[in-house]
Amino acid sequence: PVAASARDLTKVYGTGEAEVRALDGVTVDLFTGEFTAVMGPSGSGKSTLMHCLAALDTPTAGEAVVGGSSLGTLKDKQLTRLRREQIGFVFQAFNLVPTLTAQENILLPLDLAGRKPDPAWFDQVVDAVGMRSRLGHKPTELSGGQQQRAACARALVSRPAIVFADEPTGNLDSTSSAEVLGFLRRSVDELGQTIVMVTHDPVAASYTDRVLFLADGRIVEEMRRPDRDSIL
Ligand code: ADP
Ligand code: ADP
Repeated sequence: PVAASARDLTKVYGTGEAEVRALDGVTVDLFTGEFTAVMGPSGSGKSTLMHCLAALDTPTAGEAVVGGSSLGTLKDKQLTRLRREQIGFVFQAFNLVPTLTAQENILLPLDLAGRKPDPAWFDQVVDAVGMRSRLGHKPTELSGGQQQRAACARALVSRPAIVFADEPTGNLDSTSSAEVLGFLRRSVDELGQTIVMVTHDPVAASYTDRVLFLADGRIVEEMRRPDRDSIL
């Protein structure tokens, strides 16, 4: 099954002389239970692709589909709901709320949506991310790796169809990066999560099943790990 797809996705910023074609006809399927990396030079359109697929930005042409819904056909209210229920985000800067504990941060998306966590799923995510003993701590009392792991748990807590991670290890040392990447990998292998990660780091990309290379707003190359083909 396909968790999300881009169909001839095009995004143009500005007009005339100032026109920038950030995406130039990108077509790709992101498969359920697959961990995909998006790589490419700065300015190649990686963030724009993620933002269009995550309903944070509107394409100029083409179609983004998430969980079977074509985003262009949804009303604002439906888009808000889809973002809350079907999409998880992990950012380079963690973006935890400083006054809340790790547990409160992890549960925040559900609280905002007025939903209760599925206790079994919450336990699985917290254990997989190795945050059980740190749940009562505020972000300042956590290491960078622990903060990012809490942010990963927050992204997964609503059991989204797809998680978008924008350079999740960009602010971490190699030990913390390995913790976060190991968690993302296990969440794919053991919890069946679908993840798309923008990264500049070949080590981070080595944890994934598939790497898409962008240049000038197009997918110019794609690699798949042969030993992980069997999961599809
Ligand atoms: P990447 O994530 O690969 O660095 P981006 O998707 O951020 O690339 O940007 C692709 C291109 O679109 C770049 O040339 C960038 O300058 C341009 N761009 C991105 N966002 C905007 C914006 N809001 N307004 C104008 N140009 C933008
Ligand atoms: P564990 O499963 O023992 O907790 P880790 O958290 O280190 O191990 O890693 C989780 C998963 O990430 C591993 O099962 C493995 O598939 C993958 N993995 C670990 N290290 C790497 C690496 N350097 N490159 C690619 N994949 C890795």
